[in-house]
Amino acid sequence: MESVQTLIVGAGVSGLATAAALPTDDYLVLEADREIGGYCKTVKRDGFVWDYSGHFFHFKHPDIEAWLRARMGDQEIRVVAKKTFIDVAGRTIDFPFQKNIHQLAQQDFIDCLYDLYFARTGGDAQAPETNFKDMLYRRFGRSIAEMFLIPYNEKLYACDLATLDRDAMGRFFPHADLTDIVRNMKAADNASYNSTFTYPAGGAIEYVKAIASAVAPSRIALDEALVSIDVDNHVAQTTKRSIQYGRIVSSAPFPRLAAMTGLPHDRDVFTWNKVLVFNLGFDRKGKRDVHWVYYPARDVTFYRIGYYDNIFDTDRLSLYVEVGFAKDAVVDVEATRLKVLADLKRVGVIDDHRLVAHHSVVMDPAYVHITQRSTAEHARVAAELRARDVHAIGRYGGWTYCSIEDNIVEARALAAGFGR
Ligand SMILES: Cc1cc2nc3c(=O)[nH]c(=O)nc-3n(C[C@H](O)[C@H](O)[C@H](O)COP(=O)(O)OP(=O)(O)OC[C@H]3O[C@@H](n4cnc5c(N)ncnc54)[C@H](O)[C@@H]3O)c2cc1C
Repeated sequence: MESVQTLIVGAGVSGLATAAALPTDDYLVLEADREIGGYCKTVKRDGFVWDYSGHFFHFKHPDIEAWLRARMGDQEIRVVAKKTFIDVAGRTIDFPFQKNIHQLAQQDFIDCLYDLYFARTGGDAQAPETNFKDMLYRRFGRSIAEMFLIPYNEKLYACDLATLDRDAMGRFFPHADLTDIVRNMKAADNASYNSTFTYPAGGAIEYVKAIASAVAPSRIALDEALVSIDVDNHVAQTTKRSIQYGRIVSSAPFPRLAAMTGLPHDRDVFTWNKVLVFNLGFDRKGKRDVHWVYYPARDVTFYRIGYYDNIFDTDRLSLYVEVGFAKDAVVDVEATRLKVLADLKRVGVIDDHRLVAHHSVVMDPAYVHITQRSTAEHARVAAELRARDVHAIGRYGGWTYCSIEDNIVEARALAAGFGR
């Protein structure tokens, strides 16, 4: 039987960043797909460049960004100041909603400000926030919650927000205190965790290729999936062979990894949404000066759209459109595409534009539902797996909400630990 010290599952950002950081080359990366990249793949069609979904990058660690750039040759990397809006019943306001309520119609503005003020200063303002939905009501008041935060997040997560933890979105949730909100009415400061972003001319895959350049191609096995793991004897079964391993580092979705090991776990606590992404290329330009727009209205199919053409400065409208589904929902791609095109027309994104190219992908899982039960069960089972030399990493191995930079940081820290 073949043997390897480190068996890595998945050639996405996490798996490749782990391989690139290992102290020895005694490793093998297994990838079920025919290509590397995971969710950071890029599709090129009829002159359009699209990702699996809008993937834009904001690095907090200059050393990581420099390491990537040094491996990207003469690839042009655009640095873009984000222009992001919300469509509130046909009226466009700046993102984030809670800091721009003064841009709403007057009565909506009064309702939002009034409810916000009394949510923050009322009798039960100090009461603990019990879940994500409760947090939205308590911090922002009924009107902000019901005009944007709740309908938008319900469309995205495709679940009852009361089942999610207060911190389900972690640092990605744009919090704002009362002072920020009032100050923003006169001096706009809509900076968020990603107020500028970088984007390679060749799409998100260019960052993946940069990481892969530090990995030996002969140590990546494409089109070969891990099927089961005998954790007691350290033997992995793939779709093609059995492999004796020293340790496993897996970026596969956690519930699937747990099932592959046969360890007892409560699989029902792990829930998630699916996102159907349409990439749509049209024959001519659409709106300018906008990168992405959020749509909270329940009668609009999509929750967000993004304009690649305004990032690339190109002359044909190139959109990604995201539609959220519950994990067990049946996704009818064709029917949804027709609804999306009708809704794009209705909300004024296209008029007589002609669709000249399109692509779609279902990201499943896309956003995991972070709940107290899933967090506790993940921690318990991941510790048991670690004790048996199986390490779960990445957005889906960690069952979390994170960026590709977080994936690289985590992979490097894990690999460094193996070197000690
Ligand atoms: C809608 C959406 C938008 C996003 N936007 C951004 C963004 O703008 N900026 C940003 O930084 N991040 C963004 N992200 C997050 C980013 O996509 C992830 O952090 C990153 O791609 C995760 O990489 P990964 O390697 O951990 O997992 P993945 O990309 O999921 O890779 C895992 C790999 O494992 C393989 N695999 C799974 N099971 C097996 C098996 N049994 N055997 C072998 N191989 C297997 C899969 O085929 C896959 O290639 C977004 C995510 C989503 C869902």
